[in-house]
Amino acid sequence: MSTGSTPSDPSEQRDQSNRTAPSDHPSSRGGGPHAAAAALARLAESPARVGLVRDVRPWGGPRVDLRLQDGRVAAVVPHDPAAHAAPIAPHASETDDGLVVEGHGALCVPTLADAHAHLDSVRLGLPFRPHTGRPGVWGMMSNDRENWRHAEAPIGERVETALGMMIARGTTHVRTYAQVDVDAGLERLEAVLAARERFADAADVEVVAFPQAGLLLEAGSADVLAAAMDAGADVVGGIDPCQLDRDPVRHLDAVFGLAERHGAPVDVHLHEQGSLGAFSLELIAERVRALGMQGRVTVAHAFALGTLPDARRDALLATLAELDVALTTIAPAGAGTLPLDRILQAGVRLGLGEDGQRDYWSPYGNADLVDRAWQLAFTQGFRADDDVARCLEVAAVGGRSVRDPAAPRISADRPATARTITAGDAADLLLVPAETLASAVMDRPAERTVIHRGRLVAAGEPDAGR
Ligand SMILES: [Zn+2]
Repeated sequence: MSTGSTPSDPSEQRDQSNRTAPSDHPSSRGGGPHAAAAALARLAESPARVGLVRDVRPWGGPRVDLRLQDGRVAAVVPHDPAAHAAPIAPHASETDDGLVVEGHGALCVPTLADAHAHLDSVRLGLPFRPHTGRPGVWGMMSNDRENWRHAEAPIGERVETALGMMIARGTTHVRTYAQVDVDAGLERLEAVLAARERFADAADVEVVAFPQAGLLLEAGSADVLAAAMDAGADVVGGIDPCQLDRDPVRHLDAVFGLAERHGAPVDVHLHEQGSLGAFSLELIAERVRALGMQGRVTVAHAFALGTLPDARRDALLATLAELDVALTTIAPAGAGTLPLDRILQAGVRLGLGEDGQRDYWSPYGNADLVDRAWQLAFTQGFRADDDVARCLEVAAVGGRSVRDPAAPRISADRPATARTITAGDAADLLLVPAETLASAVMDRPAERTVIHRGRLVAAGEPDAGR
């Protein structure tokens, strides 16, 4: 437990580091109405097959047409304006080969991959509510416990609303946590699993069984975590083995032991800063090495890497790279800000996430990972186009690599603009009306066209779901 702390300490908050979310974005005008979210949900439930995406600029490059087949990009050819007289609006027309989506020169990148979401802890689409959280992880967790069952909409509906909004805004790959503890049991997990099933054609969702309340503070916690893995969770979660459970060896042995039994990956929230966090990272590395879990372990937040002397930080990064341990960040301000350049130079996989979104922990978050890419650029102090574009690359490529170590990775010495979309790639495409990768992050256009596995899941509605 860590009561008595201040809200400004990133080591003790899951979400408060979101406080730098942009205030000038249209989404900050308010949450999306239920009607729009429901419309998005209907679209996502029965997405239509796309055969051709015309006139798009992959990663800001030359205009091309993309032929799609069987959920993949079958061919990439230079755009020929005379080749097809498709209607200007709406954005898609149908042929025997599937929909023709008109890009009108839109920027095109892979759909985004949120590597750190808490879909079970959202109030998106519900009335704005005064923040009642108390300082510290335990204080915030307790506030959530007191309130989550009494929201204006049941948990299942809230999860579906949030996932539908994320899809509409371009995120079709998600690693989400589902809190499992002696209060919720498997109720929140089951809501997340149900939403995953409902949106199975529109998004790939990976679920972490997450012991938000620790494993050692309340009798039965470890049993609930084990039951969650039996119930269909994909990844075993852990949290602050020193600071919360105050017994890092027992905590991590429980987490990694369960993962070993299930052949499952591990994902540990680590808010611990400085030497304490470094100690936990070393204990995690020991277990990765001993169990041969290279490429299957993620550390979320890893605030220690932003708060250690450079030499100790770089030594830890070298260890994480050697063992292929991935990191995720929610782009916090202050002491929790990670050294993005050093992480990528070390060859460590890095994903971006939105964390909780307008929940009982924090009012921040709006289901838009482009917004969070802006926040990543802002908190890193980036101005140069390549640097800003890299943040979008982390949101798209980085998140995929966290979930799948065999997926393409970010190369620190290659600009994001050097990326292309080629035949054989998954037909997971996000189209935004932007000039460049950097302008897409700065302007965050509301209009998004989203294709997942070759199916149209969001059709370029401005302000969709907002
Ligand atoms: Zn989190």
